[in-house]
Amino acid sequence: MPEPILKIDGLNAFYGDFQALFGVDLTIQTGEVVAIIGANGAGKTTLMRAISGLLPSAASHIIYRGENIGALRADQVAYHGLALVPEGRQLFPSLSVEENLLIGQHVGRSGPWSLDKVYTLFPVLKERRNQASATLSGGQQQMVAIGRALMANPDFVMFDEISLGLAPVIIKTIYDALPRIVGQGMTAMIVEQDISKALAVSSRVYCLQEGRVSLEGRTNTISRDEITRAYFGMDA
Ligand code: ATP
Repeated sequence: MPEPILKIDGLNAFYGDFQALFGVDLTIQTGEVVAIIGANGAGKTTLMRAISGLLPSAASHIIYRGENIGALRADQVAYHGLALVPEGRQLFPSLSVEENLLIGQHVGRSGPWSLDKVYTLFPVLKERRNQASATLSGGQQQMVAIGRALMANPDFVMFDEISLGLAPVIIKTIYDALPRIVGQGMTAMIVEQDISKALAVSSRVYCLQEGRVSLEGRTNTISRDEITRAYFGMDA
């Protein structure tokens, strides 16, 4: 086995006194697309926030390309090549589409992604480049959030709730774009409410239940019953 791009080793996460993650272990190889599933409150967003440096953790519990990054700030983590497409998009509503996209560039990494590449991926954003992002539909805002993450030229992208609340036609557009995003050696972690979609786009899946990994395996060998048990914590 080559050295994993990301290794999480016994990760705990807290909100004040409340513990949201309990000794989470997870390993991802370069180029993998891994789905993270689990019921509401299972800890999926917390996991992504901890990896991104938005929640503090111990340095040695998150190892990226062999380096302990657990104690780094979010901007330092981004500079290492990890990008988050957060739940709820979190765009600057009064800034234009293009201004929001350019924010991703401030990370200061070079690579294949540029405004032109993002506009090729999502042509509707080019049409709306000068519009305030608040005037876009939810789906178009999700495209901006994805584009902003790509503008940082990451090696590893985390998508939190990639399709939540979006119209089916937009979900299809975004999922159709995914192979063009991850097809170039990019590694990705996807949180998705729709389990079938999560399994269809990923090669491996982790299920979280109440802050713990309840199942890990290859999507083509895991059974629906195993997933149901791991997801809900009961017999199918
Ligand atoms: P969802 O699908 O609802 O987003 P999730 O799997 O992403 O769920 P998290 O958002 O990571 O779950 O939440 C994990 C636990 O941490 C939950 O019990 C949640 O109530 C708690 N939690 C999340 N954010 C905070 C916070 N800012 N302060 C206190 N507790 C929080």
